[in-house]
Amino acid sequence: MQVERQAHIAFHLTGRMPQGEGDALARSDLQPALLAGYRDLTALRYDFPLVLISKGDAGQSVQSLSALFDGALKEVAGNGDGERIRKHASRFEREIRKLVAEGETGTLSKLCDAAAVRIGTKNDELLAKSVKSLRAALKSDGEVIDCDKAMPFRLFQHAWQALQDQKAQKFRAEINKLVMKLSDILSAEFGHSKEGMSAERLQASIGAAHRDTFDFVAMSRMLTEASVNVPMSESRRQRVRGLLATLRTQRFFPPATEADKWIGVAEPYSFKFATCTEAVAAYRERLPKMTELAKAVAIAKLETDGEYSEARHDAFFAEFGDNGLDADDIAVFPDYLICLRAADFRAAESDLILRAFVAGMPAKLVVQTDDLLEQSPIRDDFLVAGLRSRQLAGTALGFGASYVLQSSSSSLFQLREQVMRGLAYRGPALFSVFSGASASGIPAYLMAAAAAESRAFPALTYDPSAGADWASRFSLGANSQVDLDWPLQQFEYEDEQHQLVSETVAFTLVDFAATDQRCAKYFAKVPRAKWTDDLLPVSEFLARERKDLTEKVPCLLMVDRDNRLQKVIVNDTLVREARRCVEAWRSLQELGGVHNSHAAKLVEQERKIWAEKAQAAAAVVSQQTSSAVAAPAAPATATATSAAAAPAVAEAAPERSPDEAYIETSRCTSCNECTQINDKMFGYDTNKQASIINPDAGTYRQLVEAAENCQISIIHPGKPRNPNEPGLDELMKRAEPFL
Ligand code: SF4
Repeated sequence: MQVERQAHIAFHLTGRMPQGEGDALARSDLQPALLAGYRDLTALRYDFPLVLISKGDAGQSVQSLSALFDGALKEVAGNGDGERIRKHASRFEREIRKLVAEGETGTLSKLCDAAAVRIGTKNDELLAKSVKSLRAALKSDGEVIDCDKAMPFRLFQHAWQALQDQKAQKFRAEINKLVMKLSDILSAEFGHSKEGMSAERLQASIGAAHRDTFDFVAMSRMLTEASVNVPMSESRRQRVRGLLATLRTQRFFPPATEADKWIGVAEPYSFKFATCTEAVAAYRERLPKMTELAKAVAIAKLETDGEYSEARHDAFFAEFGDNGLDADDIAVFPDYLICLRAADFRAAESDLILRAFVAGMPAKLVVQTDDLLEQSPIRDDFLVAGLRSRQLAGTALGFGASYVLQSSSSSLFQLREQVMRGLAYRGPALFSVFSGASASGIPAYLMAAAAAESRAFPALTYDPSAGADWASRFSLGANSQVDLDWPLQQFEYEDEQHQLVSETVAFTLVDFAATDQRCAKYFAKVPRAKWTDDLLPVSEFLARERKDLTEKVPCLLMVDRDNRLQKVIVNDTLVREARRCVEAWRSLQELGGVHNSHAAKLVEQERKIWAEKAQAAAAVVSQQTSSAVAAPAAPATATATSAAAAPAVAEAAPERSPDEAYIETSRCTSCNECTQINDKMFGYDTNKQASIINPDAGTYRQLVEAAENCQISIIHPGKPRNPNEPGLDELMKRAEPFL
């Protein structure tokens, strides 16, 4: 035992394992035990693939395939064929998922065609019928994208474009209205002029059928004599013509159709960029034109309302925009979208864009990190850092006036509202995304989800428009189990005696590193015969004081390709990284108001003061009691004080009846499956963990379906509440494994 312990400690400290005591992993076929259930993503129902909806409201421009299918099912599965359609829908949806995983691209309708062929609708009439009704109910269409390296940019470009289209539509409507009114001013003036009232002009303005009925020469003479023509001043005429020219030749918003193009007007500007330098240069170059257009719109509004006064407005507009445009003026123009990869992001670029942010450039910067593993500059080691993106997000947060969103690509759909809010934000916004498409060999979605879960790349949002303080602006709500250092999950396995064992396991940065082949050298497999009690789960090892760890070695549960449980010990390099990671996470928690040290200090101070007061009160009472001749009952204050001073009794876990529907909330991974089925029945608490908020807000069928869809089986449907619900026998059978 002693020899084994020494060997384990040696590997932990030096990375070398004495011969025969275990194998340092040169190449690992193991993966963290908690990821064992995610080998085949196509078998799971989760947020991806996504559909980039081509038409409609910008807020709905990104949808998940599962949600679209759920919507379609709601529409078509309510009748007697419901169960059959539901089964066929799940097959059909899974086939689309498989096609996308195999690299098939295209619109949802194209993939539906291909999936229908693959599941054999040709030879199965009922299946073909179900697919037909589902397709009729799938009202939206658009490109289908999987969670891969290209996804984050495509998603942001699509959502950004949807918002810019909305903006363009609004601006064009305003410009068109102004152009029409300004043109009317010029036409009206011409109409009242001598030339406008000439016999030829009058004749041309009357339909051919009546041309011989009138004496246009006499009519012209009469009108000219009767008209009290006050001609438009030359300065006004010039101003109106100038405004028309500026509005018609603007290049900030494309015409709605080819037919609306003005002849001779240059192509509209592009607002998508691959570098900050290009974007800042374009903004700078276009600024005078932008100012001119904003000024033209402001003058045109006054002019068309008949409120422009040269005496009052000429001087004001002569200086318009000299100190920059105000936020309202800037907000109507398109935003500059910059999509770049963190690996290509040079320090000078980062400095430039941050200065442009401070100067108020309406830029939306998407920085995609593909690999969080970086080579240490001082040792032959890897750091799990993603330093560039962290630095950038940290500095942008420090400015206070930029919208900041950081997220793994796996959570982008969950954060779609925050993405849209950031893209629509009136000011600069930074989106820092980890794609998960690294050289690890693990699917990008899984890598990204592991980074989020292990706190290697936590999700955060900072929205300056949400309120005046950090509590309103900053949120860590998209992370699992925000109040913990590492999220806990339930892990079940069969031991050597074939008994089912259930353990609560934390997912740490070390688990994240264990998914990456490049970190294999930091792990050593320990043969089962040498599993000693010096092996301590990594999360426990990290939680303990260093002085209590002299005889302990951190270990991780992993599984091999055949799902056999293995234990690996971990080199100190990764433990140091994990300590750094949890420190960074705790700083974020403080910003998010979780375990805030200032608040804790204040509470401690108040508690002390309160305890002192209580002690003093108790002393007075005891003095009074002892001086009294007879004291049949203790004074109320003393009773209250001692009761309050008693240590709080730990809240016991509620006892559950098997008839009651409930969720093991503390284990919820916030995957949205249940809330998508019925958000009146299932809801999230402040930790974004689900519970049953109203068991009567839906059907027993929905409870059972949610239990079946919950990937970690923590929903217990209990017994039906409505004995008249149809299909209860079958549903209760399906519910049995979850009771
Ligand atoms: S209860 Fe289950 S299905 Fe619902 S959100 Fe939590 S993990 Fe997902």
